[in-house]
Amino acid sequence: MGRSWTNWATTAPPIQIRDIHVSPEQARLIIQIPRPILFTSELPDFDQRLLQCLPSLRSTICHNEDGLSFADELRATEMGHVVEHMVLALLTEQGIYAKGTTEWDWFTEPEGSFTITLFGRGFDPPTVTLAVAGALRVLEPLLPVTSSNELQLR
Ligand SMILES: [Zn+2]
Repeated sequence: MGRSWTNWATTAPPIQIRDIHVSPEQARLIIQIPRPILFTSELPDFDQRLLQCLPSLRSTICHNEDGLSFADELRATEMGHVVEHMVLALLTEQGIYAKGTTEWDWFTEPEGSFTITLFGRGFDPPTVTLAVAGALRVLEPLLPVTSSNELQLR
């Protein structure tokens, strides 16, 4: 084909799902998040806007070193951690109570790669996939537009 048909004005989906694996008691999700939206502290008022869109996030429990509530943690955290809590909140709305962890190692994985692991009971692929898709659908309108150009240059 030679030159590609890249349309520089087209927006690319900022968050990519690289892998989802679901078993009844554990779900593992690998997502890729680009640099401009990697940390919530870089997005003005992001925490307040997100809590307005998904108030049930306030009732998710966060185990962090400083003992912060998730609403406080949300002011300055990694976007992968936000996705974890959003999926937990959406699963709870489906009657599925789970715990989660978000891990990353950008020495061995690409920068922006997060592994989210959920522990619970009664997981099935459609329910987990729906919660993940729902989380991204709520999240993406709150994020600055990322052009495919920017994504390719990284
Ligand atoms: Zn947390």
